[in-house]
Amino acid sequence: MRPFSFVVEKGPNVSDMHVIIAGGGLGGLALAQGLRQAGITVSVYEKDPAAAFRNQGYRIRINPDGITALRELLTPPAFELFAATSATPGARMATYDHRLDLVHAQELPLVPDLPGGGHLAVNRLTLRQILLSGLDKAVHYGARLTRYDVNPSGTVTAHFADGASATGDVLIGADGVNSAVRKQYLPQAQVVDAGLRLLYGKVPFAVHQAPPELLGLWTTVVGPQRRFLGLAPVRYREPMRQAAARIAPEIELSEDSDYLVCVFGARRELFPCSDEELFAMDGPRLRALTLSQVAGWDPALVEIVSAQDPVTIFPVTVRTSVPTAAGRPTAVTLLGDAIHVMSPAIGVGANTALRDACLLRAQLVQAAGGRSLDVVLRAYEEEMTDYGFDAVRESASRGHSLVGQDPLP
Ligand SMILES: Cc1cc2nc3c(=O)[nH]c(=O)nc-3n(C[C@H](O)[C@H](O)[C@H](O)COP(=O)(O)OP(=O)(O)OC[C@H]3O[C@@H](n4cnc5c(N)ncnc54)[C@H](O)[C@@H]3O)c2cc1C
Repeated sequence: MRPFSFVVEKGPNVSDMHVIIAGGGLGGLALAQGLRQAGITVSVYEKDPAAAFRNQGYRIRINPDGITALRELLTPPAFELFAATSATPGARMATYDHRLDLVHAQELPLVPDLPGGGHLAVNRLTLRQILLSGLDKAVHYGARLTRYDVNPSGTVTAHFADGASATGDVLIGADGVNSAVRKQYLPQAQVVDAGLRLLYGKVPFAVHQAPPELLGLWTTVVGPQRRFLGLAPVRYREPMRQAAARIAPEIELSEDSDYLVCVFGARRELFPCSDEELFAMDGPRLRALTLSQVAGWDPALVEIVSAQDPVTIFPVTVRTSVPTAAGRPTAVTLLGDAIHVMSPAIGVGANTALRDACLLRAQLVQAAGGRSLDVVLRAYEEEMTDYGFDAVRESASRGHSLVGQDPLP
């Protein structure tokens, strides 16, 4: 049994509350950071064997909700480093057809007191490294939660695949789209295939300069049968390590070079192969497949796809939750994709997970101060399911009208 198997005894009041988080993704780590700032002890159990075990994707947009949450949850230097290492591609969202005729463009409103006016593009690995900083002792890798028990004393015990267990006052399921916590806590909650497949890759800027009109915050190009390309630049203002040395020398960041995210997507039946074949393809085959799907599109677009670095390309199945009622909180709750996974059509899944972390942190601080855990978790779930499932509906509706995502069941 691993050394992290332990019991944290519940004290006479909850001010010595111990929080267990299943899942060390963006939402779980952000919550852990916030709890640590608040002096609440926390342990994160992550199924991956190490922090950088798998490619988790590239650029994500952090919107005003996400930036505000991170400002609350991170230490001031860590937040400053996050802002300094994010790209600021402006606020233009545009849609073109495959001949590069403009269909629609809009400038999102700027929020003056937020970095980048509230629109930042962050490299996922960089954000993860910032979120992990200072948590070395709190994060346990290779710990896949399989189930939990709510004990007669009100504490909760999480059980892991290797037979280890951990007990705390509250268990947060931040374990993503296939959440084991959700399956036990909210067995009626459904996650369904949204009908779309994405081939997610990147183009190094050193290799290719795309036309400037395609370099806004996000550009969607929609072609015949609503096959589409999503394009978004990440251009850093300063080398990562230089920014870290200047702002938060204790945080170690990996260096990265400027790139353009290039995502090809289409309905699954438009792919000339089965899912099994698609998910077995290597990068060069995935790039060749994308090229075959955009044949005849504007040459600038074909050139961008040709310039994709094949080793960066990987396929993704788009899934969505189906809105459901909140549970009856005991000592367990959910956050992020574990409860309201959504299609990336409006790019707010991570932002919503960060918002959850911020709200849940505030509620848990109240519980640590003596308020009933039941009451605070209920308040959290009511608010979180409200805005979370609104975002799921909006993503599904936008994904349906723009690129043919299945409507929600
Ligand atoms: C192509 C694409 C582009 C996207 N772009 C954006 C964007 O621009 N902006 C945005 O806001 N959102 C975006 N999203 C959505 C965003 O990636 C997710 O909403 C976000 O990562 C959710 O964070 P999370 O912490 O809830 O889950 P995750 O980040 O998925 O983390 C869950 C963690 O739990 C771990 N885990 C799983 N099961 C267990 C278990 N049983 N026990 C222990 N650990 C477990 C996993 O290994 C993982 O580390 C995008 C999604 C996709 C697919």
